[in-house]
Amino acid sequence: MSRLLVIGCGGVAQVAIQKCALNSKVFSEMRLASRTVSKCEAMKEKIEKSGAPVKITTATVNADDVADVVRLIKEYKPDAVLNVALPYQDLAIMDACLECRVDYIDTANYEPEDTDEPKWRAAYEKRCKEKGFTAYFDYSYQWAYMDRFKEAGITGLLGTGFDPGVTSVFTAYAKKHFFDEIHTIDILDCNGGDHGYAFATNFNPEINLREVSANGSYWENGHWIETKPMEIKREYDFPQVGKKDMYLLHHEEIEALGRNFPEVKRIRFFMTFGQSYLDHMRCLEDVGMLSTTPIKFEGKDIVPIQFLKALLPDPASLGPRTVGKTNIGCIFTGIKDGQEKKVYIYNVCDHQECYKELGSQAISYTTGVPAMIGTALVLTGAWKKPGVYTTDEFDPDPYMEMLNEYGLPWVVDENPTLVE
Ligand code: NDP
Repeated sequence: MSRLLVIGCGGVAQVAIQKCALNSKVFSEMRLASRTVSKCEAMKEKIEKSGAPVKITTATVNADDVADVVRLIKEYKPDAVLNVALPYQDLAIMDACLECRVDYIDTANYEPEDTDEPKWRAAYEKRCKEKGFTAYFDYSYQWAYMDRFKEAGITGLLGTGFDPGVTSVFTAYAKKHFFDEIHTIDILDCNGGDHGYAFATNFNPEINLREVSANGSYWENGHWIETKPMEIKREYDFPQVGKKDMYLLHHEEIEALGRNFPEVKRIRFFMTFGQSYLDHMRCLEDVGMLSTTPIKFEGKDIVPIQFLKALLPDPASLGPRTVGKTNIGCIFTGIKDGQEKKVYIYNVCDHQECYKELGSQAISYTTGVPAMIGTALVLTGAWKKPGVYTTDEFDPDPYMEMLNEYGLPWVVDENPTLVE
């Protein structure tokens, strides 16, 4: 029986918290802490009404401030901290976990809020040149904690959402059960859902738009190949969703999989987008609304993308109006017993079913469930290993079993259509 501190109470957190409450074998007490404590209080009330046998308390925290997170950890004494705030807070929360010797779990790798900060910018530009990709995020900042986490005897589980998270577990599972060698991985993220708005994002708009408007890239023969945003387009006929256009993006799990599965020759990530989403995004970008650099407006500094976030629907509010399904998974090719082989492992998730169960749309659901699973595996000891790791670095079997048990059942297709 464990005591968990959850930081953040947005769309993903609300699913993770409710799923933890349903897993009373592992989670007996939770403290919900965020910037806006009223969201934590609403969640506490909802769980208490459900009758789940978990003791919930709430707190306010500024997770950009290491000292404030340390204060909260020392006061609550949790067995682990689940960070479902924003990637901007990753390092501050990791520092606090290190100081208090508590296990750390998150769903997205670090990126800075201010990409113009000179020290960070210099390191970023050096990395762009050395590694050959220009995304604002990479694993180097969090992998740098490896030795300190080992010395402190604590586990850091990085990126246990769906992608990254489940897609990396699918890769470990494919390697363990289907292949002697994996040669290619195509990660396909299809959202066939419709929320009825001309434009809205399914998770935090700032993080989402930064990711989607950036250059694409993929891993081939040991190095990165970068593309212009949306340069590579394919159509794919997704099981239970149908034909959709999808575009090649840079995505964080490619970096970890490229490192941990060195025999893989090519790793690509594709995400589906409708034309209306792309047209709106291009227009917003052209007028400067996606910029992260502050501008002066009527004497005040405002960051255009943060102002845009305030105008867009809150992703946590899309649940009641989103219909349709997501299909997220990986297509693997490689060799087993000297024979060529291909395998597609995927999950299909229905937006309205998620809403009926927990009041959320499927993007928050497909991220929040794996956040609970990764946390449970660290807490029970199944995935406890001092150091800092991604989800492909553990035994995938218990995670795969929990996906089936907690609402994200998966399918194995041994004769899929490949992406050209
Ligand atoms: P939301 O914006 O809905 O929620 C973020 C939460 O963090 C809010 O409750 C917010 O508080 C809180 N927060 C922000 N800054 C601070 C701070 N300084 N101190 C304390 N709390 C803070 O985001 P999502 O739920 O959509 O996303 C959560 C995380 O999940 C992100 O890191 C995102 O990148 C990741 N994600 C991962 C995916 C995956 O598959 N791996 C997919 C989708 C998302 P407030 O309410 O005051 O704004």
